[in-house]
Amino acid sequence: MQAKLAELKTRLLEASDLNHANALLSWDQSTYMPPGGAAARGRQMALLSRLAHERATDPAIGRLLDALQPYAESLPHDSDDAALIRVARRSYERAVKVPAAFVAELTSHQAASYQVWTEARPLNDFKKVQPHLERMLDLSRRYAEFFAPYDHIADPLIDEADYGMKAATVVAVFADLRRELVPIVRAITAQPPADDSCLRQRFPEAAQWEFGLAVARQVGYDFERGRLDKTHHPFTTEFSVGDVRITTRVDEHNVGDALFSTVHEAGHAMYEQGVRPDFDGTPLGGGTSAGVHESQSRLWENIVGRSRGFWQFYYPQLQAAFPGQLSNVPLETFYRAINKVQPSLIRTDADEVTYNLHVMLRFDLELALLEGRLAVKDLPDAWRARYEADLGIVPPDDRDGVLQDVHWYGGIVGGVFQGYTLGNIMSGQFYAAALEAHPDIPAELAQGRFDTLLGWLRENIYQHGSKFTAAELVQRVTGGPLTIEPYMRYLRAKYGELYTL
Ligand code: ZN
Repeated sequence: MQAKLAELKTRLLEASDLNHANALLSWDQSTYMPPGGAAARGRQMALLSRLAHERATDPAIGRLLDALQPYAESLPHDSDDAALIRVARRSYERAVKVPAAFVAELTSHQAASYQVWTEARPLNDFKKVQPHLERMLDLSRRYAEFFAPYDHIADPLIDEADYGMKAATVVAVFADLRRELVPIVRAITAQPPADDSCLRQRFPEAAQWEFGLAVARQVGYDFERGRLDKTHHPFTTEFSVGDVRITTRVDEHNVGDALFSTVHEAGHAMYEQGVRPDFDGTPLGGGTSAGVHESQSRLWENIVGRSRGFWQFYYPQLQAAFPGQLSNVPLETFYRAINKVQPSLIRTDADEVTYNLHVMLRFDLELALLEGRLAVKDLPDAWRARYEADLGIVPPDDRDGVLQDVHWYGGIVGGVFQGYTLGNIMSGQFYAAALEAHPDIPAELAQGRFDTLLGWLRENIYQHGSKFTAAELVQRVTGGPLTIEPYMRYLRAKYGELYTL
């Protein structure tokens, strides 16, 4: 059995190495590649994708998994070997259900559609990309069909990012959350908006960059096993547990943009850097789901990075970095500015309170598209109607409306948005559990000390990689299932102090 397990690991490591080599090409494409490299890079990445898929679906892996199944079943559920075989089987069965020709068709359509989207968005021209989105919806439906029977057509797509989660569960959790959030948003928007003009002065790039680097290092992102580079859309990418890179962007007219993006990505990266080294290159090496990943980026960005304690420590340093801009701005003004709640058009710029409304309306529209209740041609109108109903504002154009997120145009329709809000919900649950274990964490944050919190997250979440599913992890860490209560308590406490609720 040990020889078979070793052979399985060797074969899976080859597929993993091909995927990580591809990720490096992709990182380079988004950071340093000159424009002239685009055509060859696309071809090289397509080749590596195909080779990785071939390796991952090699029937030899299926035979090894079958031979190892009795061994896996003889072990306790939480043994490393049982988890490795379980997760490997899940990915293998997923991969072999989708024919290679379909993967190639989808990949090439994604590249073409993404390209058209990058042209259509600045032109505010939904019609230009509409046929590509129609085809993407068709491909998404066909993709789901490979996993029939299912309860809901979105289930196989959701499963890909948030394994074990079903559309029906997400619908129910989101309905609860909406019921709680909408009255809070209404109460806040009835009050005078916070003044955030202090954030919108000119903040030279070099000083912003240095400040972001220092904060990322101090919260615990390990630069011996990572680096920070500039890109258009911030992201985290992982080549091994010893090389987890983050990127950010800098807006000289918004001091929060680079900093909070950097802390967000550092949260994703600390999760990856914290995975047990012996899981590296195995199916257990890497975060367990989109939702759990987002729970960590949002925990560090918002619960820590937008807390009063964090800025009690960092604000004097920020003032020292930008004396001309901030020396006359009191901490309280700055704190209120970075936590300003205001319905807005762009999801990625939204505040903590309204953010989930952006996500939930996209999730609902995805379901409507997949179920055939909504046609792609009617999507821009449906989008505007939902923004008006949920946030009380109507996008003046499609550029900042239905064209704003790349996910449907360059990825797939279905399963791509729920993780953001599941992540917020879990961030509240995990942080509450950390506070229960260490009530002194908030006082430590106010002294610039992050080691107790990071240590607790590593011990309880990060080290396990993909060994446990999101649902198992939530149960183990918090002693119960997914629930919105801790997250709502957190929002009510924080915003109840900033506004009258
Ligand atoms: Zn994220």
